[in-house]
Amino acid sequence: MRTVLGCIADDFTGATDLAALLARSGLPVSLRIGVPSEDESAADAAAFEVIALKCRTTPVAEAVEEASRAFAWLKRTGAVRFFWKYCSTFDSTAEGNIGPIAEMLMTELGVRQTIYCPAFPENGRSIFMGHLFVGEDLLSESPMKDHPLTPMRDSSLVRLLAPQVGGKVGLANRHVVARGAEALKARLEALADDGVRHVIVDAVCDEDLRAIAATTADFPLVTGGSAVAGQLPRLYIEQGMVLPPSARRSGSPPQGGQIVLSGSCSAMTRRQVAHYGSQSASLRLDPLTLAAEGAGAAEAWLRQQSPDAPKLIFATAEPDDVKRAQEKLGLEKASQLVEQALADLARAAFRRGIRRFVVAGGETSGAVTKALGVTRLEIGPEIAPGVPWTFAEVEGERIALALKSGNFGRETFFEDALNLLEAA
Ligand code: ADP
Repeated sequence: MRTVLGCIADDFTGATDLAALLARSGLPVSLRIGVPSEDESAADAAAFEVIALKCRTTPVAEAVEEASRAFAWLKRTGAVRFFWKYCSTFDSTAEGNIGPIAEMLMTELGVRQTIYCPAFPENGRSIFMGHLFVGEDLLSESPMKDHPLTPMRDSSLVRLLAPQVGGKVGLANRHVVARGAEALKARLEALADDGVRHVIVDAVCDEDLRAIAATTADFPLVTGGSAVAGQLPRLYIEQGMVLPPSARRSGSPPQGGQIVLSGSCSAMTRRQVAHYGSQSASLRLDPLTLAAEGAGAAEAWLRQQSPDAPKLIFATAEPDDVKRAQEKLGLEKASQLVEQALADLARAAFRRGIRRFVVAGGETSGAVTKALGVTRLEIGPEIAPGVPWTFAEVEGERIALALKSGNFGRETFFEDALNLLEAA
């Protein structure tokens, strides 16, 4: 099958979120973790190919280089349209990497303009007058202001993007989007004539996303969150670029024990951890203890638990605790200790026969999948908007992974996930 859309995502949970929304169409979606090696065949590519990178916070040059290798591989699938996926809360450092990667892709594809639309109304992320809202709060007043790696202290996407790119940044606001695809097209063209290469596009509801997708379905490059991408498959079917789905593929869930691993400190994850911790065995990881003594005690704790029993290991902590650990150890060291410990514990759990993993945190999910040696995921049933179960093979054994980014899912997400697999 020829790939119709090649996608690059800046982290793992972002990639699974995108894959889940594309998979709602019933069309085959394949998610590859990291840039496939040069000799990895593109012959079995799916209609939608998603490559998950781990480049949200890496140095700009490194991130751009990785994304350009991902792009080169995706071109081999025959894709002529591409999607650059970042978080619906526009998580990025001051220098990038959202803008630099978009500019690299624009150069590669020879396009003079692209759009930026991280809105995900179903999950409470909307953009109005270029300002990003999380629920009813501005991004800068939402819990994202305290994110351990990418604290978001401004809500204006125009202001956030401008320092990341060389070209001019502009806005297509809600008044235009609400008038539909033709009006938006005209606005984009007018902006392009003014030399605006990067356009933030407002969206507050799915109707807006449909207008945006209709306007940009034939753009070689669209950038944004999963929700706008989720509107594209239907248009591609209408345009005859891909045949409608025959039967929805769905893998049977693997048998084996279960574990929840959480390295996310986001507000919703903190509630999920408190909720699940009150009804399962749980162990808290402290970065300072990990620095002093390693993860041996946690591995010993895991060995004492029955593989089948509900259990939770978490580093999830309140912003003040995170700050304290970062002040003592340095931001990178604190993160790295936690990610490494959770990754090692995931491997230990696999060795103990655990086959169902729920992982909270984008960076954390990246570390866990890497440690398990997972390179390709099949997309399964959706647990919450943008969070599917995924299935993979590790050392010849089938495992199930739910990879959840910080603020996704409701309070009962961990049990929701495991119950859904039970019912599948
Ligand atoms: P999210 O999806 O919520 O952003 P991530 O896993 O992407 O979650 O990022 C959370 C980061 O915070 C990870 O790098 C993780 O290792 C780090 N972290 C987790 N717990 C702590 C803690 N107690 N102190 C300091 N850093 C932590």
